[in-house]
Amino acid sequence: MTSCFNLAAAGSLCALCTQYGGCRENGDPSVNKTDREGSELTMDDTSKNGSSDFKPAYLALHESGELEKRGKELWAVMEQCRLCPRECRVNRHAGEEGFCHASSQLEISSFHPHFGEEAPLVGRNGSGTIFFTNCSLRCVFCINFEVSHLGIGEPRSIENLADIMLRLQAIGCHNINVVTPTHYSPHIVLALDRAAKEGLRLPVVYNTCGWERVEILKVLDGIVDIYLPDFKYADGAMAAKYSAGAETYPVVTKQALLEMHRQVGVAKPDRNGIMRRGLMIRHLVMPNDVSGTKQVISWIADNLPKDTYLNIMSQYRPMYRAEEFNEINRKITRNEYEEAVACAKKAGLTNLDIQGYPLWRNL
Ligand code: SF4
Repeated sequence: MTSCFNLAAAGSLCALCTQYGGCRENGDPSVNKTDREGSELTMDDTSKNGSSDFKPAYLALHESGELEKRGKELWAVMEQCRLCPRECRVNRHAGEEGFCHASSQLEISSFHPHFGEEAPLVGRNGSGTIFFTNCSLRCVFCINFEVSHLGIGEPRSIENLADIMLRLQAIGCHNINVVTPTHYSPHIVLALDRAAKEGLRLPVVYNTCGWERVEILKVLDGIVDIYLPDFKYADGAMAAKYSAGAETYPVVTKQALLEMHRQVGVAKPDRNGIMRRGLMIRHLVMPNDVSGTKQVISWIADNLPKDTYLNIMSQYRPMYRAEEFNEINRKITRNEYEEAVACAKKAGLTNLDIQGYPLWRNL
């Protein structure tokens, strides 16, 4: 597969960039164009990403040797893999694959500066996004199904991954954004250790479905600067139906969010509007309230600070196998989205990322 890196650096768009996460480059009017205009991707310009005066969480662990130790600890988990709540217990070192279809061979789909993420992650030069192949949740409506379900990607070494991180830093990205990282968390931590030795100083964004084991998150304590989890479902029956039997999703994800918040706290941008640390939650509003939006918002308001960052996402559209299920086989309505926003405001949440009216012009 052609790397998106060169396309993005040349100002072109790749398929993933226009599909994943409601990419704002794809004509989505919610984009803050000011963030992109004037963005010049030049090599070795660390002043643009602010890395010159920022120390990421993992640096101290790298210097003490703890980062490598944590990477090896996660690596050992793959012998009877329990990296995610599937807890397959397969021996990935022996080439066995669990539910996620990943052996211990790292596979990466693409990497590039991404301009479709949240504005405080995108800044002027983009979020340094690395898309990992395979997924342990595997939703039937996945917008990124070629990568998550069909396994499109290429084998890479840990050294390759470290080099990718350094390349993204060199062109001015504001962070290293690891997308669907859980099943490759050992590789990511070991690559971070190598990259830190070579000068990586960007914050790490752990861009996850939210369905994470607290035991594994504790190993990541002091490594991840920004947690970017989904909170997809309030109802385990919905999670089971649309995410391959993951009925524990609400219970597990709530515990994971509490642990993430304990580690990194409320997300607040720096004086330049760039996020360096904190918890940023995403909730995708789905048709017919499949995602249980009111319950999700209510839980966040009751269990996390009111200024917790919450991106209420409107970009759901039927993808992959969604057409097989009537209740999710359409976009959401303007009314469904506005109800979600009103609910969040009524609950007292003050740090909302809300998408604009023109989104509805194509409905
Ligand atoms: S990471 Fe993959 S192999 Fe490991 S427990 Fe999860 S689904 Fe199973």
